[in-house]
Amino acid sequence: MAATATDAIVLQSFPYGETSRIVRLLTRSAGVHSAIAKGALRPRSRYALMEPFAEGAAMLYIRDTRDLQTLGGFDLTRSRQGLGRDLLRFGGASLVAEIVLRTASEESHPALYDAVASGLDRLLAVEGDAVEVCVLAVTWHLIAELGFTPVLDCCIACGRGIEANRDATFDYAAGGVRCDGCAAGLPGSRIPARARTALSEFSSGRPARVGATAGHWRLLTRYLEHHVLEGAPLRSLHFVATSLSVG
Ligand SMILES: [Zn+2]
Repeated sequence: MAATATDAIVLQSFPYGETSRIVRLLTRSAGVHSAIAKGALRPRSRYALMEPFAEGAAMLYIRDTRDLQTLGGFDLTRSRQGLGRDLLRFGGASLVAEIVLRTASEESHPALYDAVASGLDRLLAVEGDAVEVCVLAVTWHLIAELGFTPVLDCCIACGRGIEANRDATFDYAAGGVRCDGCAAGLPGSRIPARARTALSEFSSGRPARVGATAGHWRLLTRYLEHHVLEGAPLRSLHFVATSLSVG
């Protein structure tokens, strides 16, 4: 059983037995793993700060034949406890963690790791009135890093370029926009030119201005259902929607 030293972000953490904790980690060099942190619930344990969204240098003992690995060390570098200071921020961070868990792979994927780490940091730093758009931006960037980038600059059916100032029809099943000629008579949502530009920026990991957000949430929810989740809805997406209606 080889020891793997890798940066890791806690996606999920729950108590196990009297004194231990099971954590689900996104690692930089070995993908997603579940691991047991023995003694984590004891006072002064070195694993005491392994709450969701915390990041650190982990030592992981990985055995390919097992689903549960053993944690040999975790030196905290960022706790990100501030993500809990409001519901929407926490919901956005939970959405990121849940999408990664649902699409989990044991492949090394440093760009995904960086997208998750920087996305959580953006959610932590953003001002209160910009949290909602930040959740949209971070989620679309994550979707792109997972390989599900929507086709936005040309028609997904005929390949013809669609000018930046034109509205287009979003074909959820195909995963991109259709030009007017190819959209005739087919189901799909009309996406204003400005929203299409914002989606492109978000997918590239850049911020963008968004007018009304309701259409963006509908599009994100349906896109996730079609391309990332294969059916079962995300609990955290429901949580975000609830937080928005409360706030
Ligand atoms: Zn077309």
